[in-house]
Amino acid sequence: MVGKFYIKTFGCQMNKNDSLIVDKILSDHGFEQTNDKESADILIINTCTVRAHAENRALAYISGLRAWRRAGNRVVAVVGCLAKDRQDKICTSLDFVDLILGPDSYRKIGQYATDALHSETRIIDTELSGETYYGIHAPSRTVSGYVSIMRGCSNYCSYCVVPYVRGKARSRPAQDIYDEIAHLAGSGMKDITLLGQNVNEYKHENIDFTQLLEYAAKIPGVFRIRFLTSHPRDFSKETIEVVKANPSICEWFHLPLQSGNDRILELMNRKYTKEQYLELVAYIRNELPRATITTDIIVGFPTETDEEFNETILLLEKVRFDDAYTYRYSTRPGTKACNLESLDERTIKGRLNELIGAQHKIVKEKTEEMIGKEYEILFEGAARGNASRGKTRGNKDVVVQERIAPGEIRNVLIKEVKGHTPIGEVTQDA
Ligand code: SAH
Ligand code: SF4
Repeated sequence: MVGKFYIKTFGCQMNKNDSLIVDKILSDHGFEQTNDKESADILIINTCTVRAHAENRALAYISGLRAWRRAGNRVVAVVGCLAKDRQDKICTSLDFVDLILGPDSYRKIGQYATDALHSETRIIDTELSGETYYGIHAPSRTVSGYVSIMRGCSNYCSYCVVPYVRGKARSRPAQDIYDEIAHLAGSGMKDITLLGQNVNEYKHENIDFTQLLEYAAKIPGVFRIRFLTSHPRDFSKETIEVVKANPSICEWFHLPLQSGNDRILELMNRKYTKEQYLELVAYIRNELPRATITTDIIVGFPTETDEEFNETILLLEKVRFDDAYTYRYSTRPGTKACNLESLDERTIKGRLNELIGAQHKIVKEKTEEMIGKEYEILFEGAARGNASRGKTRGNKDVVVQERIAPGEIRNVLIKEVKGHTPIGEVTQDA
């Protein structure tokens, strides 16, 4: 053992997955992970810049590490999107940071960490190189997990910083993905999510997303498989056919809408209309009546009027999403939309509250509709009291009042709803 590391992760599933990659690379170099910050030699902060809020949280956390850093021969490493985007700010106002690595530089983190422990010189590597981390398979320690199939994004939605901090879209070789899935399934992972900013764009040599999904679904030991995120512009009917034909593929689709108004969608550079979005949802529900559809929505995009925002509410009520992640628009320096004049904060906040209220009502109603129905639940862990928590194929959390080991599968009859959580009873082993 050459030292202990502690990882603090901010942001999306992609970042959580990247932290596992960092963990694997450091472990291969002889470092050991610890959950105790005080016993660590290296503290890695994996950062997010998708919204100002995430960025500020990471910056505040890093600022608080000055004393920790001084208390011994210790290394502070800032990695990920913020490291790429705000390298200069970190260098000037967080001068105790030893290691600054962008999302494509983790392969060298073992050597960098060793060097940083033995020298006072700051190391910076934020070049984007088209890295896919092929060949690096993080070990499975959980019932459900992610397999990254592509990195970066070339869509340039006008509000979004991802293409700038993670580079352009590139796909990981299919065989490497299959090998990782086979390994994870073989070591007990039961719910695998294929991960990418726009998975529908996957293309490696002659294999496209639908072919990748079809093959992955048939790998021995794969119990449940799903994918995240789909782009409404690129989601194909062939994908639905593959979902229908393969029982291991969960009928859950995360389809970010962003806005229900065509002018705003165009300003966002999303390249679909409200009508096209509605047609896609209708098609999915017609083909797969048990499909769960979730979404992301941004409120208060520059120049959005009250009427245009109301169209988003109307669309939300028409689609009746199973869940929606709602965000207030956040200006990201360097993006196309950052030159547009922002709406005032009060207006944005008011719209966000209205949207959240409308969606809560829908989630509550939809959750209550689950009462009296039976679901296949994959258990993931303990819940408060003597209870256990698991997931439906539609990615909805369910609680039962008994202890069931993670990884177990049961059929559960939903009896009641508490808050937004369905509570059920086991009817039989699934
Ligand atoms: N690749 C995915 C997710 C990208 S980031 C997609 O295309 O949908 C996750 C979500 O963050 C986005 O769907 C969007 O709703 C939100 N988001 C991204 N940039 C944002 C910004 N500048 N302000 C507010 N929300 C933003
Ligand atoms: Fe950002 Fe758009 Fe790419 Fe999603 S598809 S990561 S929102 S640029």
